[in-house]
Amino acid sequence: MAGWTGKTVYLDLSSESVNVIKTDEKLIRSYLGGRGLGVKLLSRLAYPDIDPLGPENPLIFTSGLLTGLAPMASGAVLTSKSPLTGTIFSWNASGGFGRELKKTEIDALIITGKAKKPSYVEVREGGVEIVPAEGLWGKNVRTCTEILKSRGSIACIGRAGEKQVLISSFVIDSIHSGRGGLGAVAGSKMLKAVVVKGEKELLPSNPERFGELNTKILKLFDASPMLSKGLQNYGTSALVKLLDYMNLIPSRNFSGRGTSFANLFSGERIKATFDLEKESCPACPLGCKKRIKKTGQILPDYDSLWAFGFNLENPEFASVLNADRICKDYGIDPISAGSIIGACAELKSEIIEAYELESLLLEIGEGSEIEGGGKPGNGARKYLSGRGEKS
Ligand code: SF4
Repeated sequence: MAGWTGKTVYLDLSSESVNVIKTDEKLIRSYLGGRGLGVKLLSRLAYPDIDPLGPENPLIFTSGLLTGLAPMASGAVLTSKSPLTGTIFSWNASGGFGRELKKTEIDALIITGKAKKPSYVEVREGGVEIVPAEGLWGKNVRTCTEILKSRGSIACIGRAGEKQVLISSFVIDSIHSGRGGLGAVAGSKMLKAVVVKGEKELLPSNPERFGELNTKILKLFDASPMLSKGLQNYGTSALVKLLDYMNLIPSRNFSGRGTSFANLFSGERIKATFDLEKESCPACPLGCKKRIKKTGQILPDYDSLWAFGFNLENPEFASVLNADRICKDYGIDPISAGSIIGACAELKSEIIEAYELESLLLEIGEGSEIEGGGKPGNGARKYLSGRGEKS
């Protein structure tokens, strides 16, 4: 069982029951990574017609064989049936959550049911506890994470998830946000957050061999200009110049190709403008997240630069920074949010002005109905086809 820790935990929020079983060895030998394990467990536990926002839909947290040990392998994987797409969704969530989960000796945490009142789940080596969270309900991710951060690594939803906005997501430690509507799945279960703190030291089964391979991987990192010079120095904004050079930046809701203001959002320009510090996930030498020292805000990744910048023909970096901050606080997927706004703008042949972004995102985050009764937070297809309701 080297690489795995041995426990699979089933938690039912309706009955408040916790069932710990030995992880099926055949299963983990067949599915070495957290994604494979999570998807296989979902396919065993869910049926095709399961309501993604119903209590039976499992929300599964897994770690993988190398989680917390190897470079770029610190994350957890969150898997469920997506209320946005109606299909299996699996999010590889960076940050410290996966490593902490592994340190509690849990390979998979499977949450079903619906809590009677807002709750969070606290995971420790000694057990899993459901904790009342009425005081956290209604709060956004930053405040919630601030309140819980002394207790471990936090996967938290914001107001968008509580309101079951279909493009809502979990946010890990206030930094890493995902896609696929898993925030709405948590909201439907009255689950505000999962907090995890482990004690077990993670060790490879063959430290000598692991050390040799790790050294080789680090050499490959050094030899890769994109990793060692690009991501390490600028984060994913390093992609802007490269994609611009290849004329591969989609603009105006994918109706155009290329942009006239790539230089304003390039990694070099951003680094020259702000005093930055590196933010690393555990055991990852890259530190691809960059924090603005003065404000503490994490810089937007390429996805937000694209979604609120190039996609909307918006060259105002400050408004993109603000849009990214709102998305991480409400727990909204920035790619989906920017895509909805871009699609609406194209249909109306309008340009969205930078100053309009904040109010549009607040409406999305609050699950508001706008313009003809649809909810833009339910995704471009549902909103624009006039349905606007959960399927
Ligand atoms: S620091 Fe960046 S590259 Fe490293 S694991 Fe975290 S998100 Fe991935």
